[in-house]
Amino acid sequence: MPELPEVEALTAFLSARLTGRVIAEVRPVAISALKTYDPPVTALAGRTVGPVVRRGKFLDIGADGLHLVVHLARAGWLRWREQLPAEPPKPGGRNPLALRVRLEGPDGDGFDLTEAGTKKGLAVYVVRDAEEVPGVARLGPDPFDPDFDLARFRALLAGERRRIKGVLRDQTVLAGVGNAYSDEVLHVARMSPYKLAADLSEEETARLFEALGSTLREAVERSRGLAAGELKAEKKLGMRVHGRTGQPCPVCGDTVREVSFADSSLQYCPTCQTGGKPLADRRLSRLLK
Ligand SMILES: [Zn+2]
Repeated sequence: MPELPEVEALTAFLSARLTGRVIAEVRPVAISALKTYDPPVTALAGRTVGPVVRRGKFLDIGADGLHLVVHLARAGWLRWREQLPAEPPKPGGRNPLALRVRLEGPDGDGFDLTEAGTKKGLAVYVVRDAEEVPGVARLGPDPFDPDFDLARFRALLAGERRRIKGVLRDQTVLAGVGNAYSDEVLHVARMSPYKLAADLSEEETARLFEALGSTLREAVERSRGLAAGELKAEKKLGMRVHGRTGQPCPVCGDTVREVSFADSSLQYCPTCQTGGKPLADRRLSRLLK
């Protein structure tokens, strides 16, 4: 799933291409992706785009008083097209195309939103105010907000009885960090994903805050200037532990381990993060009984 750094890069990519351009047509292909009906998606036609901003993991494409807000979810992606085909797309079947945006002009350029796989999570909203999107309205502070400092981070964690891994990826606590970058941030901070947020010492909170900022900034730096199509591969290449189960930790050489849950998994390095002890994996222990 694209997280803060990828959506940030995608926002820059789209901002450069879309700002000031006029939308010719927005065509939903997978109707399930479209979450709103008033104003209708056709109301975007004829409007000039700007600005394009990121809100957590959401893309917010402004267009003369309306917003096309997109959440790419797990398998959604954006594909820029220098020349869109002239004939209308065919819905249904295995077509991953969910929505097509065509711009006015002689080139026929624009972009497709696509979604691979069967778990459909891609969500598109047409609203007058981005805050009308429930997921946007609920967002916690963004780590890139100029006023997001250590004191604010400390306040977010105070009294929080959940494990730090879950807290970091909770969008209502902190906007933009998901399963992948929370693994990475915790590895950089040399901290167990199971540690309770409220139990963090002042020093640990400061270390985690520093790791959060540096991990996200470095990921954005790596993604800067990349075309939309190259961002996914770059995200994967930059990972230290996430998605690298069984591979050596780049810091200490220990084997990266995994804990599986019903619909996700986390990766960590025992030597760097948990004092060398493997974390309990309920699913695995059940299988071994
Ligand atoms: Zn390690």
